[in-house]
Amino acid sequence: MNEKITAAAIGKMTPMMQHFWTMKERYPDCIIFYRLGDFYEMFFDDAILASRILDITLTARDCGLEERAPMCGVPYHSVESYINKLIKAGHKVAICEQLNDPIDGKKNSVIRDVIRVVTPGTVVSESMLEEKRNNFIMSIHQEKAAIGVAYADISTGEFFTTEYAQNGLVNLNDILLRVMPAEIICEKGMKDTLDALPVNKIVALPEFQIYATSAFETNNAMASVKKQFGETALSVFDINEMPVAVQACGALLAYLYDTQKTALMHITHIEKLNESRHMLLDITARRNLELVETMRNRKYKGSLLAILDHTSTSMGGRMFRSWLEQPLKDSVEINARLDSVEEIYKNLVFRDNLTTELKQLSDLERITSKIGMKSIMPKECERLRKSLAVIPNVKVLLARAQSDKLLDIYKSIGDFTEMQALLDNSILENPAALLKDGGFINHGYNNTLDQLRKARSDGKQWMNDLEQKERESTGLPLKVKFNNVYGYYIELNRNLSDQVPLTYQRKQTVGNFDRYFTVELKQLEEEINTADERANKLELQLYNEVRDKLVDYIEALQSTAKALCELDCLLSLAQVAVKNNYTKPKINRSIKHIKIEGGRHPVVETYLKDQEFIPNDTYLNQDSDKIMIITGPNMAGKSTFMRQVAVITLLAHVGSFVPAQSAEIAITDRIFTRVGASDDLALGQSTFMVEMVEMANIIQNATDNSLILLDEIGRGTSTFDGLSIAWAVVEHLSQKLKAKVLFATHYHELTELEGMLEGVKNYKINVKEINNTIVFLRKIVRGGANRSFGIEVASLAGIPGEIIQRAKEISHTIEQQDFNIKLANTQHKNKDSQVELALANNQVVNILKELDINKLTPLDAFEILQDLKGKLR
Ligand code: ATP
Repeated sequence: MNEKITAAAIGKMTPMMQHFWTMKERYPDCIIFYRLGDFYEMFFDDAILASRILDITLTARDCGLEERAPMCGVPYHSVESYINKLIKAGHKVAICEQLNDPIDGKKNSVIRDVIRVVTPGTVVSESMLEEKRNNFIMSIHQEKAAIGVAYADISTGEFFTTEYAQNGLVNLNDILLRVMPAEIICEKGMKDTLDALPVNKIVALPEFQIYATSAFETNNAMASVKKQFGETALSVFDINEMPVAVQACGALLAYLYDTQKTALMHITHIEKLNESRHMLLDITARRNLELVETMRNRKYKGSLLAILDHTSTSMGGRMFRSWLEQPLKDSVEINARLDSVEEIYKNLVFRDNLTTELKQLSDLERITSKIGMKSIMPKECERLRKSLAVIPNVKVLLARAQSDKLLDIYKSIGDFTEMQALLDNSILENPAALLKDGGFINHGYNNTLDQLRKARSDGKQWMNDLEQKERESTGLPLKVKFNNVYGYYIELNRNLSDQVPLTYQRKQTVGNFDRYFTVELKQLEEEINTADERANKLELQLYNEVRDKLVDYIEALQSTAKALCELDCLLSLAQVAVKNNYTKPKINRSIKHIKIEGGRHPVVETYLKDQEFIPNDTYLNQDSDKIMIITGPNMAGKSTFMRQVAVITLLAHVGSFVPAQSAEIAITDRIFTRVGASDDLALGQSTFMVEMVEMANIIQNATDNSLILLDEIGRGTSTFDGLSIAWAVVEHLSQKLKAKVLFATHYHELTELEGMLEGVKNYKINVKEINNTIVFLRKIVRGGANRSFGIEVASLAGIPGEIIQRAKEISHTIEQQDFNIKLANTQHKNKDSQVELALANNQVVNILKELDINKLTPLDAFEILQDLKGKLR
């Protein structure tokens, strides 16, 4: 129906509908939730769309036109769940609220306006947020070659920015993948570029949304940044030299103001990303090492995070995830973490006590954000109060800590005695969930409120007291009574009516009784009757005052929350180290090798059911042992071994203990992985192409301090091409780089490189052959394997016996041919060229035989001829 709605049609509509259309014009991309009494109503196309998504009845309403307007509605008290559904379905919702009560009962005296726009990247409701995951909104801007990025989580107050002077688009892919924003804004001119980013084909990013170009303009953007963070913001956050990032920051802030329509007092600073602080992990490495989700089905279960995350709080869980995704490179920072993990690890009582305390903490970051947006509810105040009560206990536990990091955390935890007192005094225990009916301000906090509450509960007693007093002063047997029509009145037998005092006003006679009012009675009644309403109003006012006072504590709460998150992460690392028997790795700048004794794969060992995980040793350095060529049968454990070396290296950089008996780890700038073969059909790339693209990336970007995992290079093409590529790659890596390389392969020919190339060492994973089948020993030893046992593994996998038998025959024939050629080579060394020529002649004859000349174009014929000549040459 929207297309049919012309300005002329709107002109004929009822005033309320005309107002709806004004709102719709201002928020065209939103579903308008229009408040009417106890409902939020949706109209026209919004209603048709929402009724379908929310599965609610579509009705219609008179709108002033002949045709009624489609309409559907949801009750205001359960609006959150409906909004959540629409947001999850990818829509935005503008909440058009009733700002006043009807004046003199006239409905059209109500003023309505949009008070908030809810979008996927700006949700704050707990039911919409994942506890242990940030919900980021990102803004991206480009000026010539430079790209600026800003992203924020308004549910926690975090705000980050960075600028890429060069290679912006490559970096954009990485940061989008790492941050995985729930919403992304950009200006019109950038959309096509962003749509074309390869990352779109790897993960399902939200649609890039166009936002007002003016918001990205330098002056406007700077004004937004200064408005939020103060005049000196650019120098305070050290982003003076990042003009494009500032543009992205400013636009993001403008968008947040536009949607939230409230001060964002909890966004207190911009954190400039320092990407050089972290080990670089590109998309391939992140996926192959299964950091936060499995490669195969993208599940949390089975990921490294799932094994390692033992955090006690959801805010700690969010930080833990970012620790794992951003391993450190600085040896001092890493060892600071390791030392404190060790301290917690060694002390069972300390560990248990810390866990008990941290488990009682609520999500202080998210609660603080609600303070900043003035949307904190009484129940959250209570949770905050309970958390504040825990903080001194944590401080006491940390007071005796030895390691620097734990002491830093101790110092960063604030003193909230005053705030605690405020909440203790002001907020009722177990307060009401909503604000409209009172029941959240504490007794004794405000005298007037106490009196009003007393009036409510003691009203009956007051009337009894009045009755007593009147009886005594008049000496008459009167009674104070109540009915729904008259309220309270004094009742006296008619034959005593001449004795009542002058202050008594007679209102009614019923049977033998007269009914009277007095001024005092009416005042008391008024007090009792309005006590409820006045108490509720006063509670709200007092609550708003408390909310305002809480704002003063935002920054202290944020830095304390951050310190507690760090503590939670360190504690989690210590817990998992104890539980899974990990050891403290040695890692510093002077160690140039990776030496692991008894290393295990943390995930594989957890999921092995009936077998023990067999530990393995590793030694890699920058000269004599740079490249491990790992051979061994299929399924022997080559990939597991390589990944465990990478994971142990990565964990050491996170500051974690590692699954090994001992480990010495060189500071590593990047981990590259080329593991397994998978088509990237979405990217339009074949298995082999993906493999080669990844290989090219490694060769171009690896440094002497990198760790490289290569699993089965060159397998997606013909054996000779593949082997040649693999061979050349090993040569290149050996001659041009000092990087440490683990190279698993089924090309046993590569084992010939040991001795020929510097730093290449052969390793194999042993198996035992028993009764025509194989037993996996999982132990890596020096030397090269000469068989892959592919057919035996195929048999174990359930390939039918007749196929296995046939495969063995074929394999035998091929091996025989190979042997014959080799024999010919040795017997007729001087006739090498004749043998080759004979083979080539044979090929040429076969090609000519199969050629259908009638179907050839002259150009085809020319090319084939050239090819044949080439073969003979
Ligand atoms: P392919 O050459 O076919 O790719 P692979 O040699 O890379 O095989 P993996 O995938 O590493 O073999 O290992 C196969 C399985 O063997 C693993 O899923 C795991 O269950 C088990 N495994 C690997 N290493 C070990 C180990 N050290 N101890 C116990 N079990 C192991």
